[in-house]
Amino acid sequence: MRPLAQCQALLAAVLAGTAAVVSTSAPAQDRLAERAAMIETIKSHARSAPSAVEAQGIDPAVLKAMGNVPRHFFVPEEQRGAAYRDRPLPIGYGQTISQPFIVALMTDLIKAGPGDAVLEIGTGSGYQAAVLSPLTAKVYSIEIIPELGERAAARLEELRFDNVEVKVDDGYYGWSEHAPFDGIVVTAAASHIPPPLVEQLAKGGRMVVPVGGPFSTQFLMLVEKRRDGSITTRQLLPVSFVPLRGGKSR
Ligand code: SAH
Repeated sequence: MRPLAQCQALLAAVLAGTAAVVSTSAPAQDRLAERAAMIETIKSHARSAPSAVEAQGIDPAVLKAMGNVPRHFFVPEEQRGAAYRDRPLPIGYGQTISQPFIVALMTDLIKAGPGDAVLEIGTGSGYQAAVLSPLTAKVYSIEIIPELGERAAARLEELRFDNVEVKVDDGYYGWSEHAPFDGIVVTAAASHIPPPLVEQLAKGGRMVVPVGGPFSTQFLMLVEKRRDGSITTRQLLPVSFVPLRGGKSR
């Protein structure tokens, strides 16, 4: 038998381990009231954007996912107070995390299902990927700025979004080894719809992508690949995103 002191030390270590686990899952419990208020704001914003949101509003599953993701963990310390306001926030390196309504809208538009694989271009903070995580089987996300990609990957791991895989690369070219994707979310504005992403969209799949130059009006576009392989595009609403880099320069 172990001496009592040794048992107590072991118990203390086990408890410390438990405490560590609890503390990493705790952020989901923080600031619940602010998240609930954010959801109400998203719903009313959706009612004022009938050209983009279908009559039934944003899918409750999307709103539930957003109610569970601790957005304040995805913004820099100095922005945490503003994390639940319906506006974009700086995340460093000249990039921004989109406003909650736009994240909800883009997530809703691709209609991700439980067995689907989704590709995100522009990981940024990792927030959009975290919102997609519970709605789908697998999220692949590509970020071109190494520091942002590495930080987001570490944050997503710490918060246990285990079905998200991040890589640092130029997302213009997609992620062919995991294609086709049932949904693709591009979170930086492209001058045109990137053909490699259309190529990597599954039949029946949906892609949402902001299109337009940095100094001209950008529009959120919905691209659908029908079962017969034909492509339809729909312009939804004016938006303002940071530019998609790379692509044409190769
Ligand atoms: N979805 C992010 C916000 C994205 S901001 C979030 O939830 O926080 C747009 C991001 O796209 C920036 O981080 C930017 O560095 C990245 N980006 C720009 N061009 C890219 C490209 N060609 N491939 C991958 N990421 C790109």
